[in-house]
Amino acid sequence: MRMILVGPPGAGKGTQAGRLVATYRIPHISSGDMLRAAVQEGTQLGQEADRYMKSGKLVPDEVVIGMILERIAKPDCAKGFMLDGFPRTRPQAEALDRAMHDAGVELDAVVLIEVPDPLLEERAVGRRSDPVTGAIYHLKYNPPPPEIADRLVHRKDDTVEAVTMRVQKYHSETAPIIPFYLDKGILKRVDGVGDPDLITQRINAVLAS
Ligand code: AMP
Repeated sequence: MRMILVGPPGAGKGTQAGRLVATYRIPHISSGDMLRAAVQEGTQLGQEADRYMKSGKLVPDEVVIGMILERIAKPDCAKGFMLDGFPRTRPQAEALDRAMHDAGVELDAVVLIEVPDPLLEERAVGRRSDPVTGAIYHLKYNPPPPEIADRLVHRKDDTVEAVTMRVQKYHSETAPIIPFYLDKGILKRVDGVGDPDLITQRINAVLAS
């Protein structure tokens, strides 16, 4: 299974990806996680990416495309992968398309998790992640156990200002990839409002159809 998860910031892509990769046994490739790891390590790529990420802007295509194409060429991706957060622009979608064509493989599905804009800010601002297990919580909707509260991380781009910018970028830069995949007949729309378990069921249902 080669698939992509698309959706605005706070749509629940990371949460759903974690569940789906366990079912489909494919690597979860999150461009955001890879970039955050590079920032943490202080690599040249990380230092460049950090300038954009802090304010919620997109990292330039040439940086992200190289990083992801290199990753999906690794042996663990030979039988499939789940991309989360990539592609996020039309040039990224086209570059992925060319690389997969050259490798003689095809995408099976692009799952679009749809959540209306007014819900996104609260979802992102209340989000906390556990660096030990990778679990994602929400202070109000999925509160973390009190004993791990001290180690939780609040992303620096999960502020009102950065989320506003990220939502704007989603509409201006990422939404144009939707018709690209619609034309290929592999776009699957899923309502992203509701309990995370219910959304997992909806995704599994569209993938099985
Ligand atoms: P995410 O964890 O997917 O919400 O991504 C966090 C941030 O990383 C984004 O707001 C961008 O600054 C950057 N980023 C992640 N993926 C991409 C991508 N495909 N293209 C450009 N920037 C990206």
